[in-house]
Amino acid sequence: MGKVAVGAAVVCAAAVCAAAALVVRHRIKSSGKWARALSILTEFEEKCGTPSSKLKQVADAMTVEMHAGLASEGGSKLKMIISYVDNLPTGDEKGLFYALDLGGTNFRVLRVHLGGKESRVVKQEFEEVSIPPHLMTGSSDELFDYIASALAKFVATESDSQHVSPGRQRELGFTFSFPVRQTSISSGTLIKWTKGFAVEDTVGQDVVGELTKAIERAGLDMRVAALVNDTVGTLAGGRYNNPDVAAAVILGTGTNAAYVERAHAIPKWHGLLPKSGEMVINMEWGNFRSSHLPLTEYDQALDAGSLNPGEQIFEKMISGMYLGEIVRRVLCKMAEEAAIFGDAVPPKLKIPFILRTPHTSAMHHDTSPDLKVVATKLKDILEISNTSLKLRKLIVEVCDIVATRGARLSAAGIVGILKKLGRDTVKDGEKQKSAVALDGGLYEHYTKFRTCMENTLWELLGEEASENIAVEHSMDGSGIGAALLAASHSQYIEVEEP
Ligand code: ADP
Ligand code: MG
Repeated sequence: MGKVAVGAAVVCAAAVCAAAALVVRHRIKSSGKWARALSILTEFEEKCGTPSSKLKQVADAMTVEMHAGLASEGGSKLKMIISYVDNLPTGDEKGLFYALDLGGTNFRVLRVHLGGKESRVVKQEFEEVSIPPHLMTGSSDELFDYIASALAKFVATESDSQHVSPGRQRELGFTFSFPVRQTSISSGTLIKWTKGFAVEDTVGQDVVGELTKAIERAGLDMRVAALVNDTVGTLAGGRYNNPDVAAAVILGTGTNAAYVERAHAIPKWHGLLPKSGEMVINMEWGNFRSSHLPLTEYDQALDAGSLNPGEQIFEKMISGMYLGEIVRRVLCKMAEEAAIFGDAVPPKLKIPFILRTPHTSAMHHDTSPDLKVVATKLKDILEISNTSLKLRKLIVEVCDIVATRGARLSAAGIVGILKKLGRDTVKDGEKQKSAVALDGGLYEHYTKFRTCMENTLWELLGEEASENIAVEHSMDGSGIGAALLAASHSQYIEVEEP
């Protein structure tokens, strides 16, 4: 087509039809630009390619790194943190337990009434409280006093029928989604704050100690029975509902996974072997990286300009914080080099993180014949109007490539965990069922991402192994899971003699 157009331009120029020549030249120019846009797209698609063979290499690399991280401290990019959770809920838990879920600008307090095998969760109540911004950069005492006083107010709403047994202390599970060096099931020191928190005097302190002191200052009689990461809480919540749950994955703003490991398969664990023979490992898999990951120039630029360059590479290709930003970077290149939005690059498009994953997800799911949602998002977020349908289709393609790669890589990560557990294949007709609990806003709301992730899992595992593996949404596991872990690590559990 390019050749025909050039020929036509020559004929017109010879005919001294200046106006017509101008129009035709313009067409040549714009079709050249469109070709450039398509070539950027094609190259991006190729670089993001995740054929099964590549995903299997990623899964194998994940398994290898898991071994290395379990062998020695600092042995791998995967921290493979020992959670000290060696007892997951069984369903027998009974009594009234509290949980506190602190992981962002809001925290939640929960009260769960557990009725044992028969009655399960009898009642569940929660309250969400936002943290005033000045407390996120103030002193540790102020922050924890605020949290403890909200907790005390919530405890005061206990009804007459909801009481801990006389003479017993209330017990709480504390979900704390910041990097912690865990020192026991109920203690751990804060390595650093993230997500906008900068309370300097908490760093290096035992966060359970800080919370406990504030609870005492608030005049509350309550013991922190378990300190857990949100993946570990989700795993506990998932296991409570389904005994086959062996791993939990969070796909939200960030991404992480936890799973149940055999205690004797953790060389770096020098403590006593737990009675259960099991230990939950918080993988911190967001920091996984491998030469098999399909990294592009856009990922490299995103990483270089991030707050933590060189870190969390897997997370930067998968999670909700970044997918929209990758799309923006590709569109920016197309705007600069192929003028897809006209001669000037739209100023808003140049602003990092302006395009969020819920926006690209909405565009990706647009089913209207003229892609109305895409047009609206472009207008509202990027102040871009008058786009052609052809261009809107191109933008949906970019969203699709980014989401597909993220979803397929997360499936490969899950296969890596199943491989580590020897549950990725069926051995001698053995029918051991395994389930993976999933949670997080990306998994919950980005339907195409979720569907692609699940389909890829079946693709990688094959038909026979897939029959024994289930994926389930563990709604709100991190909150209720912490209450369940407070129950399974209660100081009142009788020591069972064999
Ligand atoms: P967090 O990971 O911070 O605990 P969530 O699990 O609630 O929080 O996940 C929130 C993330 O989920 C958002 O940052 C966003 O990336 C993603 N998300 C939320 N809604 C949607 C949506 N409709 N489509 C795609 N992604 C979404
Ligand atoms: Mg969360």
